[in-house]
Amino acid sequence: MDPLEVIRRMYPWQGPPVARDPLFGLIGIVLSQHTNDKNAWTAEMNLERLYGSAADLAKASVTDIANAIRQAGMQHEKAVIIRELASHELLDGLISRSLSMPWKKARDNLRAIKGVGTKTADVFCMIYLNAPVLPIDVHVKRVSQRLGLTKSRNYDEIQADLHKLVPEDKRKATHLSMIRFGREVCKAREPRCRECPLNSVCLWYLSTAKSQAGLP
Ligand code: SF4
Repeated sequence: MDPLEVIRRMYPWQGPPVARDPLFGLIGIVLSQHTNDKNAWTAEMNLERLYGSAADLAKASVTDIANAIRQAGMQHEKAVIIRELASHELLDGLISRSLSMPWKKARDNLRAIKGVGTKTADVFCMIYLNAPVLPIDVHVKRVSQRLGLTKSRNYDEIQADLHKLVPEDKRKATHLSMIRFGREVCKAREPRCRECPLNSVCLWYLSTAKSQAGLP
C-alpha cells in the first residue's frame, strides 16, 4: 500500500487556485500561517479592501496593517512581513518578476526577503510557478513522521525524503491532500487512528497509539 496514494484518493486535488496578483497571493500565504483558512481569508479580504496595491501597503503603518489583519492572529509579526513584501514589490517588482524566473532562483530571491521562510517561498513557487516542490507545513511534517516516511525533523531533509517518494507531477496534489488529511484525520491531538485507512501501515499507530489504547 502506498500511503500517500491513499491520502491523495481520500482528498483529491480540486484544481489550481484562482490566479491572483502575486503580491497578494504571497500575502495570503503569510496570513494563512498559524490560523485556519476562514480567518486568513477574512483578513486578506479586509486588507485588500483597505490597501489594494503595493503602493498603498508600503505607505501604511505596521499598526494599521496589523489592525486590518487582526483576524489572522500574530498580526504584528505578519504586518511587518507584509510591509516588507510591499516595499520590495514597489522598489523593483521582485515578486511579480519572480513569475518569469526559474523557480529555484525565485525561491532564493523570496527567501532573501526578511520574514519569508523556506515553506512560504516553496508554497508560492508551487502555486505560481508550478514548481515540482512539496512544501513541508506542520500537517505534512506530522503525517510524514507518524507514517514513518521520514525520520528527520529538519525541513530540507523531510522534503528530500518525500521528494524521493512522490513523482514531480504529484507533489502539489500530495501537499494539498496531506494538509486536509492532517486536519481531518491525523490531527495533532486525538488523531482518528481507529477509523484511519492507514492504521495497518502507520509506524506511530503500531508502536505508540495502539499500546497506549491497550489494544493487542
Ligand atoms: S493511524 Fe493515526 S497516526 Fe497513523 S496516519 Fe492514521 S490517523 Fe495518523
